[in-house]
Amino acid sequence: MTAKLIDGKAIAAELKHKIKAATQMRLATGKRIPGLAVVLIGDNPASQVYVGSKRRSCEEVGFKSVSFDLPEDTTQQTLLSLIEGLNNDDEIDGILVQLPLPAHINADAVIEHIAPHKDVDGFHPYNIGRLAQRHPQLRPCTPKGVITMIKSTGIELKGKEAVVVGASNIVGRPMALELLLAGSTITVCHRMTQDLESHVRRAEVLVVAVGKPGFIPGEWIRDGAVVIDVGINRLADGKLTGDVEFAAASKKASWITPVPGGVGPMTVATLLENTLFAAEHLHI
Ligand code: NAD
Repeated sequence: MTAKLIDGKAIAAELKHKIKAATQMRLATGKRIPGLAVVLIGDNPASQVYVGSKRRSCEEVGFKSVSFDLPEDTTQQTLLSLIEGLNNDDEIDGILVQLPLPAHINADAVIEHIAPHKDVDGFHPYNIGRLAQRHPQLRPCTPKGVITMIKSTGIELKGKEAVVVGASNIVGRPMALELLLAGSTITVCHRMTQDLESHVRRAEVLVVAVGKPGFIPGEWIRDGAVVIDVGINRLADGKLTGDVEFAAASKKASWITPVPGGVGPMTVATLLENTLFAAEHLHI
């Protein structure tokens, strides 16, 4: 078998096109354009790239984008006060604080300070709780984007054997909740999992978010599986690669995402989708 590619770049472009049309429709009917505030602390090069892409995408779809670039030594209180102001700003629908934060700032306190109805990253305990209780509101962008990608293949998730490798708060855990919501039977693997191979070999849907290049051997992939590679790893030659051995996995999977051009662009498009959702449904 040779896997078909799930083209995240193309699906994201289509989603952004729809968001742009909805934004123009809002303008035409006298409504406010959606507003997203993006906050970056310090000068982490990877964070700068992600934030740049989020800000550019905002402009592409016609959103109002407000940027805050604060120095590495910004105090937690300064950041919380900034968030307080944005929580009370009627032109802002979404607040995104780029992670990771410098060590002296408590990320949980920051996330919990964002008003849940403006938490377009979907990391606030309120939004994770809504997802866990089957009433999602603002859903974590990467896992929600993965579900959009799987749906684009026409493959039914109900009753499928789904395995998630990685259990972080921002990818693995909410990914498992999304797949559970979609009706799959889920297994979540992490660094303490015994016999990872046996779990991966069972997966009809495999989502990998570990952060180690080529971590999952292609040979482990079940025949006909859908393989979603969330990992983004930069190699010594500057190239980006995923967590799954792409060439070997492509010989066994039915569908597979590339890196780059897979989950990455979908995460950004889903952030815009969440911001539009907040403007349309939560801030009328
Ligand atoms: P993380 O470091 O917070 O979590 C990694 C997870 O992998 C942990 O749960 C850990 O238990 C698990 N793990 C580590 N070693 C393992 C092992 N030997 N066996 C099984 N599990 C193991 O990372 P994260 O923030 O979840 O990100 C994971 C990857 O996804 C990174 O490469 C990151 O860059 C990428 N990422 C991509 C996007 C995107 O939009 N495409 C978004 C977020 C993260």
